[in-house]
Amino acid sequence: MRARLWLTVAVVIVLVGALGSIWASSVVARNDAQTSRQNFRATVLEIASTLKLAIQHEQDLVVNAGAFFVQSPRATQTDFRRWMAASETFERYPELTGIAEVVVVPAAQLAAFEARALADPAGTLGPNHTFQITPPGTRPYYCFANAALARVGQSVTPAGFDYCASALGPQFLKGRDSGEGAYLPYGNGTSKQLVVGTPIYSTGYAPKTVQARRATFIGWVGTQVTPGSLLSTALAHRANTAVTFEYIGSSPRVSFSAGVRPPGAQVMTVDLHNGWRVRTYGVLVSDSLGANTNALALLLGGLLFTFLLTSLIVVLGTSRSRALAMVHERTDQLQHQALHDALTGLPNRVLILDRVEQMMARARRDHVAVAALFLDLDNFKDINDTLGHVAGDQLLVGVSVRLSNVLRQTDTVGRLGGDEFVILSEGASLAPGAEALADRILDVLRSPFEIPASEIPLSVTASIGIAEGVRSKAEELLRDADIAMYRAKSAGKHCAVVFAPSMQTAVDEHRSLAVDLSTALEQNQFFLLYQPTVNLATGSFTGVEALLRWQHPLRGVVMPDDFIPALESNGLIVPVGLWVLNQACRQGAAWHATGHSFSVSVNVSAQQLAHDKFVDDVRRAVTESGFDPDLLVLELTETSLMSDVAAIVPRLQALKSLGVHLAVDDFGTGYSSLAYLRQFPIDVLKIDRSFVSGIADTKESAALVHTLVQLGKALGLETIAEGVESSEQRSQLLSEEVEMGQGFLFARPLDVEAMDELLREL
Ligand code: C2E
Ligand code: CA
Ligand code: CA
Repeated sequence: MRARLWLTVAVVIVLVGALGSIWASSVVARNDAQTSRQNFRATVLEIASTLKLAIQHEQDLVVNAGAFFVQSPRATQTDFRRWMAASETFERYPELTGIAEVVVVPAAQLAAFEARALADPAGTLGPNHTFQITPPGTRPYYCFANAALARVGQSVTPAGFDYCASALGPQFLKGRDSGEGAYLPYGNGTSKQLVVGTPIYSTGYAPKTVQARRATFIGWVGTQVTPGSLLSTALAHRANTAVTFEYIGSSPRVSFSAGVRPPGAQVMTVDLHNGWRVRTYGVLVSDSLGANTNALALLLGGLLFTFLLTSLIVVLGTSRSRALAMVHERTDQLQHQALHDALTGLPNRVLILDRVEQMMARARRDHVAVAALFLDLDNFKDINDTLGHVAGDQLLVGVSVRLSNVLRQTDTVGRLGGDEFVILSEGASLAPGAEALADRILDVLRSPFEIPASEIPLSVTASIGIAEGVRSKAEELLRDADIAMYRAKSAGKHCAVVFAPSMQTAVDEHRSLAVDLSTALEQNQFFLLYQPTVNLATGSFTGVEALLRWQHPLRGVVMPDDFIPALESNGLIVPVGLWVLNQACRQGAAWHATGHSFSVSVNVSAQQLAHDKFVDDVRRAVTESGFDPDLLVLELTETSLMSDVAAIVPRLQALKSLGVHLAVDDFGTGYSSLAYLRQFPIDVLKIDRSFVSGIADTKESAALVHTLVQLGKALGLETIAEGVESSEQRSQLLSEEVEMGQGFLFARPLDVEAMDELLREL
């Protein structure tokens, strides 16, 4: 809506701007053309008046000179020279090249004229100071110069030159009879000159009749001028202008030109009304837009300005709405971020709690079934620790995608953090039961995850806790699902458990257990059992593994699976682990002292191995107990080895240099590759119970054990099969060339007394 408004405004501005620019530029073009025409007209008139003045000026000169001859009919060449000098005519008329009075000499007066001319010649004389008539010949009359002066440097006409016998002759005589002056071209090319001639009469003016004019005729006064200099004065360095100056009052026509006629020039003619006409050529500015650069520049400038103005207005106009849109967008983003998990994009705890509230509100109103499923991956911590956080993140994303796909539109899946997911389901989607939904979820996670950060596909399982029905608060429903999930974990993982109120008591017990654990060490409630390891082929005793037990004052003996995770999480595993190490070494040394030399294995937690101090602990344990380090085996898990390879490898080497042996516990459950294992100075592989338990029944387990054994052999390691419970398993392991075993088939974990009994029987 707003965008359309601004678009309309922009279009209007563009139209107005463009039309305005065109209009303004065409006005400029027209104005320019008009100005140019006016200027040209002014130029033309100026040139014309300059030339008119020049012509008058010439005529004045002729009139003045004529007056001189009228007043002094007998004036000689010398008289005329004096008059010319006195009147400074050559100085005042720079275009003047010559001036003469030409008179008619009848043949009868030729001799007298000749005598006078020789004495005071008005032109050059012939060889030997002779008066030579040019052109020669005897004629009834001659027209000779009675007085003539040429500008210094100009050629002087011979004294005997007969003007009437020249090309000028007919004009001279015509002028005498008409009483009118004449303008005549004289010479040609660049030296083409203008002769301004006028007849003079003794009356001072031209009498009315031809008769009278002939009777009073004295002669002609003529001036010779270079019109070029006149014209160039008139042009006065005007560029791109040419001028033609024509006399049309007589024939032949006289025409003089100056200046260079520019291409595409226009011509303007001015009649000077004295027989002269001036044609002036010049370039006029066209009124067409394209030919006028000023107008064109204005047009383009106008269009550009319009464009900029439009852009500015549109930007200013829309920036507010854009800013608002951005604020909305950003607000939406922030809201989304606040309510969703950054990694998977799933609803987070805040949003999930809100959805649980809404779901329970619907359940109260419509009496539909509702359920919250709490899902926790079983082995995520191992993957994260061994393959790194990138792999862990990729796996979580993969899991979130599968969960989203398996659910119905009305169900919600969210991530609470870590590897904990929550699924909310209600109504129709719960019709087959919450456990059916849980099974579907467990099923969809079954096929391994292929992620970029891991070369091998990752298999994960999950434990699911289900809480059904309405609670007074959303948190309570999630808490119950969480409790059920813990129950699923302790029931062996990879399963779903529905919450029952009795579980709450168990949780409460668990909490009190954790409290009691903090004082267990100082109150000496821990003790060790020893489970023998045997040679699978012979069944002969080879050593023991020390296993921790907790003697709880009220509950009796607590198994490690029920308290070790708590020790791990509160860090007490380090001092408790040290106690186990010292206790096992003391016991081993005591058995050794009674003549029994066998290995004692001690389980080491990742937290113990994470510090260099552990090497010192081991050294002290063997030295203080006097136990032979060659008989001490430290059992390390794959996860603890992989957590920080660069730091672990030198630590293991330090341990090895103490003389102790190293074993990889629960081998096969982690993600160690052969390449990684090679880096560690290990002596023993303990094949996890989960593989051994299936070896007699499933092909997969058999194949896996085979692979693990081959791997151990390739690395030159001793292999021990854990959890051997049946003789079938034993024979199967033997056929796989596993040398040693440990399990209930041979012996349960034994207290020291039972061990002593066993040793006595050896
Ligand atoms: P683990 O290191 O794999 O120890 C072997 C476990 O397998 C023992 O359980 C043992 O009782 C059990 N087991 C042995 N043979 C069989 C069999 O044939 N069938 C079955 N079903 N189980 C068998 P336990 O003693 O409950 O210990 C559980 C885990 O607790 C140990 O697994 C170990 O990871 C941890 N743990 C025990 N003692 C210590 C300790 O001192 N320090 C640390 N860090 N962990 C310990
Ligand atoms: Ca062990
Ligand atoms: Ca084990």
